[in-house]
Formats: sequence, C-alpha cells, structure tokens
Amino acid sequence: MQTEITISVSPKTATEKESIKLSLARKLNIDVNKISDVKIYKRSIDARSRNIKIHLKVIVFTKGEIANPKNYGKEYKNIKSATPIIIVGSGPAGLFAALRLMELGLKPIVLERGKNVIERRKDLAKIHKHEVNPDSNYCFGEGGAGTYSDGKLYTRSKKRGSVERILKILVEHGAIEDIMIDAHPHIGTNKLPKIIARMRENILSHGGEVHFGCRVEDFIIKGNKIDGVVDQYGNKIFGHSVILATGHSARDIFFLSKQHKIKIEAKPFALGVRIEHPQPIIDKAQYNCNVRSKYLPAASYKFVQQVNGKGVFSFCMCPGGHIVPSATAREEVVVNGMSASTRSSRYANSGMVVAIEQVDLIKYAKYGELAGLVFQQEMEKMAWEAGGKTQAAPAQRMVDFTNGKFSKTLNHCSYIPGVNSAPLHELLPSMISNQLQEGFKIFGRKMKGYFTNEANILGVESRTSSPVRIPRDGLLLSHPQINNLYPCGEGAGYAGGIVSAAIDGERCADAIKKNHSLK
Ligand SMILES: Cc1cc2nc3c(=O)[nH]c(=O)nc-3n(C[C@H](O)[C@H](O)[C@H](O)COP(=O)(O)OP(=O)(O)OC[C@H]3O[C@@H](n4cnc5c(N)ncnc54)[C@H](O)[C@@H]3O)c2cc1C
Repeated sequence: MQTEITISVSPKTATEKESIKLSLARKLNIDVNKISDVKIYKRSIDARSRNIKIHLKVIVFTKGEIANPKNYGKEYKNIKSATPIIIVGSGPAGLFAALRLMELGLKPIVLERGKNVIERRKDLAKIHKHEVNPDSNYCFGEGGAGTYSDGKLYTRSKKRGSVERILKILVEHGAIEDIMIDAHPHIGTNKLPKIIARMRENILSHGGEVHFGCRVEDFIIKGNKIDGVVDQYGNKIFGHSVILATGHSARDIFFLSKQHKIKIEAKPFALGVRIEHPQPIIDKAQYNCNVRSKYLPAASYKFVQQVNGKGVFSFCMCPGGHIVPSATAREEVVVNGMSASTRSSRYANSGMVVAIEQVDLIKYAKYGELAGLVFQQEMEKMAWEAGGKTQAAPAQRMVDFTNGKFSKTLNHCSYIPGVNSAPLHELLPSMISNQLQEGFKIFGRKMKGYFTNEANILGVESRTSSPVRIPRDGLLLSHPQINNLYPCGEGAGYAGGIVSAAIDGERCADAIKKNHSLK
C-alpha cells in the first residue's frame, strides 16, 4: 500500500532515514515497523521562522511494498549512417540537442571551438594568472558556459519543455539523484565536467561526432538555405541542418550573421557588478542564527526591485562560492560566479545588475542591432583598464560605492586574479551606478546585515544574457530567412541558464525531425 504525505522535520532529522520513518509513523499514527519503504520526491527549506523546517513530500510504502528502483537509462540508437545534423557549440543547448537527435535517429556532428573538459581546465588556471585564451575559457569549451559554474538547475521557463526530463538525463550521465527532489537543485563545478564528458562519450559511442578546436568562421549558404559551415582552417562541413548554439559570448557569430545579412535583432539585457559578502552574514540574516547549523546548506538570497522605473536584480547567486574571471578576449575583464557541490567557501557572491533596453543606448544607435554588444564591450574594456590592465578586477566596498567614496582598502576576496580599488561609482554610467546605489539601500532594508562595507563589489558583470537575438519562426524554430538554420539556446536569445538552454536544444532537435519528416 502507498500513501502520499507531506511532513515538516528539523534539518537534522531530514538527513536521517530512520528518523524520517519515525516522523512518518507518528503522523500516520502507525507502528514504524509497518513502513516497508519511503520515497522522498520533493524537498525544500522553510527558513521563515527561527525554527527552520525541511518540508518533505514523501510516498510511504507499507505491507511489504517497496519503491520501484529508478531507471534513468534511455535507449539511444546507433546513428553512424543517419542524416547528419551540424550543431555549432557544445554548451547545454548543443549537447542536449545532440542527445535528442540520437533518440530521434539523426546523427549529431558537434563542432566546438574550445577544448575538452580536461584540457580546458588548464586554460582556466592560466586566466587566473592573467592569460586569456580566446577559444578556451570560462565561457568557451566543452560543456559551454555551464561546465565550470555553480550548476544551479532551476528555471522559470517551465512551459517550453520538461525540466524533469532534463534532470533525468543529467542523472543518467552521473549527476546525483538529489537534483530530482530538491526545490533548488545544483550540481557544483567539481561534478559537472565528468557529467559533460559522459555525454560526449555517449554521443561518440552511438556513432555521433564531436570535434574540438573547431571554430566555425563561415556559413555555407546557397540561395536561402544553409548547407553547412566552414571552420578556421577552411574545412567545409556539410549537414542537412545547422543548429547554431554558440552562447552569449560568441560575438564573432553575431558579426558573421550581420556580414551575411542574416537578420539579427537587438535584445534587452542587464549589466552591473558582482557583490561578495562573507557567507556568515547571509547565513545569519536568512537563518536567523549566529552560526549556521551543519545540517543546513550555505544560505542564498534573491532580490528584484524597480528603481526609478528600471529593474535592479540579483543574478546567479552562488552561496559558498567564488568569483571567477569570465572574459573571452584579451583586454577585457568580466566577472561571474561559481561554487563547488559542497558550497563550502567562506564567501557568498551574486551578480547585481540593472536592466538595459534600447532606449538606454541612444549613444550607441549607430551600431544598430549590435548597440548592446558594443556597450557591453566598452564596459569590459573599462573594467580591464580600471583593474590595472590584467585580469585583476576593479573593486570597491559596497557602502563606499553607494556613498560615492573611494575605498582606501578592500575586503579579502575569493577572486583569484586579485582586485584593485577603483571608483566604480564614477566609472560605471550613471544609469547603472545610480540604480545600483538605490538598489543596495533598498536590499539592505530587506535583509539585515546586507548593506555593509564588509562586502566588495567587482566590475563588471556583463554576460548575464545575450544583447542580441537571432530571430526564428515561432512554430518551425528555423530562421525566418535561412531555411534549415536553427538559432538555439542562450546566444540566440531563447534561454537564460543551463536547464532552459538544454530544453531549447531538445526543442530544436524535435523541430528538425518534424519540419523535414526525416527518417
Ligand atoms: C561562470 C558561469 C557560471 C554560471 N552559472 C550558472 C548556473 O549556476 N546555473 C545556470 O543555469 N546557468 C549558469 N550560467 C549560465 C549558463 O552557463 C548558460 O546560460 C548556458 O551555458 C547557456 O547554454 P548554451 O548552450 O546556450 O551556450 P553556452 O553554454 O555558452 O555554449 C556555447 C558553446 O558554443 C561554443 N562556440 C561559440 N562560438 C563558436 C564557434 N564559432 N564555433 C564553434 N563553437 C563555438 C562555445 O565554446 C561554447 O562551448 C553560468 C555561466 C557562467 C559563465
């Protein structure tokens, strides 16, 4: 017999299977020995009161019944001789498109400008020493921008596809099953590379292709149809269709599209700074305690506020994380955040950004659809100069920034390339610094301890989403002018994170199969 039930238990109880059984027996008013198995299918933290609770949604099995063992394994076909589909980019959009194509009996040929996850790691170590490889960095390389990240797996775009399906595929490739039940699942930068490598092995072992060090530099277009792409060595690669999943940092692809007169559009995005607090300040505020219990994860926060008619919001919060250098070219500084699966660093960081629309970029109007991209580039160059012309980031204490005061000293910080004090309140355009200053004061009123000079802000957080959209037909998902070209994922403007990019990859694969009735 099976009974579905919700219980609220202490954080300690939630970690002990026997204690959970006792709580369930009490709630159901039955003898604990009658419970033959327990399956938790949703877990969330309720920290609204001092007495923090973990809510568990559970199926209780009695009378000797047990939960069915989970089987996440999917059957992929051997597609070595099937119709080839080119996928440019091996981020979540590209990889999930490839796996879905295999399920549909089509052959993915994945082209990736960067290196495999192991080789890529060496280039990340070099960025920390101020050496940027434009093809292999925190944004480019196997697994895309999501590989060396926090691996947060929640998304608001639930209507476009099944989040559960994406999580199952991740588990199938080695992610822990907890991601299926946690309200805010995350994987961690230490675990993601292995999962990504298993996806690649899966593609290869079924007859698909994955090519690293293959930067697409041109499209092969005949009439109004794309037939393939050309790499940096002049090699031509032909395929039935092309899924363009190059991410928000592939500026060369936007320029290439413009050069070919392939329609692109300006898109709103957001830009600001990354803020870092000592993690205990956030724990204290969110858990109402002096010291976080060892049974609770590092606390997080989320802020959204309209300030003088503009959105100011926190972005990609990484509890127990690190700030990382995410530039994709020399002479630019870009910051972002990541954390390991344990989220155990001493710091809590998050992007704090201001929404930017076309009306804010009148000064850049001459660049047309690329106005946002040029503005973004200028801000990254400014950060490089203000930081001292290395990967060191310009930084300021939070209250000093808000009061328009230079910081004589800075707090210790997780950002390995280092920080240099700079007047970010003057260096950022007033449309950003004024909104952030107001936003910080408001967020400080919402969370005790948040508004403090113990927090540093670092510039610039500029790769929140793509400033350009590559349009596509709402139903067919192909480009309105170029047949068989499928703009996909975050770079094309259809995703904003790992899960939504993965969902979009699957959607493009489905659309190709359906639109062309491929066998
Ligand atoms: C440090 C960091 C932390 C993040 N943390 C999170 C998080 O915790 N949770 C979350 O949901 N999101 C996070 N994100 C955002 C997330 O990674 C992206 O939203 C997601 O990866 C977008 O997927 P995508 O496949 O569309 O593009 P991308 O992941 O950007 O992949 C694009 C791929 O295309 C390749 N490429 C580009 N140009 C070419 C070319 N010309 N030829 C061949 N290949 C090319 C790139 O090398 C790259 O591998 C983070 C991003 C960063 C940088």
